[in-house]
Amino acid sequence: MSELRVDAVVIGAGPGGYPCGIRLGQLKIKTAVVEREYWGGVCLNVGCIPSKAVIHAAKTYEKIGHADELGITVGKPTLDMTKLQAWKGGVVTKLTGGVKTLLKGNGVQLVEGKARLDKSGPDGHRVIVDGPQGQQTIIAKSVVIATGSRPMAIPGFAIDQQRILDSTGALVLDHVPQRLVVIGGGYIGLELGMVYAKFGSKVTVVEAMPNLLGTMDKDCVGVVARKLKKMGVEVMLDAKAKSWEDKGDRAVLTIEGKDGKLATIDADKILLAVGRRPNTEDLGLEAAGVKVDKRGYIVADDQLRTSVPNIYAIGDVIGGMMLAHKATKEGETLAEIIAGHKAAVDIRCMPAVVFTDPEVATAGLTEDEARAKGHTIKVGKFPFAALGRALSVNDTDGFAKVICDAKTEEVLGVHIAGNGAGDLISEAALAIEMGAVVQDLNLTVHPHPTLSEAVREAAAAAIGEAVHIINR
Ligand SMILES: Cc1cc2nc3c(=O)[nH]c(=O)nc-3n(C[C@H](O)[C@H](O)[C@H](O)COP(=O)(O)OP(=O)(O)OC[C@H]3O[C@@H](n4cnc5c(N)ncnc54)[C@H](O)[C@@H]3O)c2cc1C
Repeated sequence: MSELRVDAVVIGAGPGGYPCGIRLGQLKIKTAVVEREYWGGVCLNVGCIPSKAVIHAAKTYEKIGHADELGITVGKPTLDMTKLQAWKGGVVTKLTGGVKTLLKGNGVQLVEGKARLDKSGPDGHRVIVDGPQGQQTIIAKSVVIATGSRPMAIPGFAIDQQRILDSTGALVLDHVPQRLVVIGGGYIGLELGMVYAKFGSKVTVVEAMPNLLGTMDKDCVGVVARKLKKMGVEVMLDAKAKSWEDKGDRAVLTIEGKDGKLATIDADKILLAVGRRPNTEDLGLEAAGVKVDKRGYIVADDQLRTSVPNIYAIGDVIGGMMLAHKATKEGETLAEIIAGHKAAVDIRCMPAVVFTDPEVATAGLTEDEARAKGHTIKVGKFPFAALGRALSVNDTDGFAKVICDAKTEEVLGVHIAGNGAGDLISEAALAIEMGAVVQDLNLTVHPHPTLSEAVREAAAAAIGEAVHIINR
């Protein structure tokens, strides 16, 4: 068995692990990164990037279908799923190749294989890797667990990627199913459900909770719900998927409503999008003494330390908001910590984006959360329909909303539903991180005509100074 001695070993090369490895390399820490399957993790291979590629394709398909509104006649668009998959694959390959190049370029050793913790020795922690070249032991002072997460299943719905798909299966379909049922009205279910609705599937969303998109701003969720309705997507709230039966030519799904009544839905494919669970099994955590919580997430403090000295954990595997940029922030911070710098995860706001149509983006507190924290609030809202840029790109759904403390006028939260919301939200995240007041947003000149003017106008509306709507 070969042996490798390094200062730090990172297990998992997702958006948590690979930036951590790159920063460790930049900080001159001798580092190895081990990956069993996906250089770039879920995000680059079967998550953020491929999903946004198909969302872009679906949006283009829909826009072309409405081009005649702008006086452009192109005829009815047709869809070649094989070509779409090939294009999406190319995007993924470019990015995953880039990850390897960046790691190597920063002096990081790449190790292919599945890693687990072994008993520590006097010279450091030991990690065993089973890879294509056999078994290897890595001895390291510091270990970073960045093993991420995988889709959750529910009893009776074994994922076979034929009838019952998870998000990975839904991203590689070579045809558009006629009838698609999405179980789960969270962001992954709605993003992919909308894609197939745009491509022509009859989509039904079944959600056990009374609302879509969890705790996101209710008004923003309302915009998405209206768009779903307009697209012909049926949404069943307070409805639980109980079981399903394969009838040969179709699946028949049984749903239980709030009143206990059962109903059935016919489907060609069922997409299970009910959440994700941490990859903590087969890692040797118990033997090494690394504590996990009731739900299996590794317990880590604000310096990403686990219950064992010099074993750290980052990203989805420690729970919280399971988002790529959260994993990256933790990975980069941890590299500083391992290098001996004074650093900790100290974040006032973790922005989040849902790439539905229109997009929804959020930073900071919702109105309910702000009130629950004892704030009296002022709220300013500006509709995209009153925005020159939104009208001129024929995309006027949605609004920007700014919430501030009524007394101090500190910006507490910004919520945007609308075209480009995902790009607009970074200004809000900066404002909240810097403790800005609404006048900071209002007095900053925003270029015209841009969608960013919606944020400025919403800030102005919060203090009764909006110019392009009547202040209330
Ligand atoms: C369909 C979909 C869409 C998404 N869209 C977004 C989005 O738009 N924005 C966003 O912020 N987030 C999005 N996410 C979530 C995002 O992908 C995750 O939050 C992010 O990938 C987590 O990063 P990570 O580094 O913690 O883990 P992962 O990306 O899961 O990476 C962990 C890596 O560890 C490897 N690994 C696991 N165990 C071992 C082992 N024992 N040995 C070696 N390697 C191992 C895995 O193979 C994997 O490559 C999406 C997810 C999905 C599924």
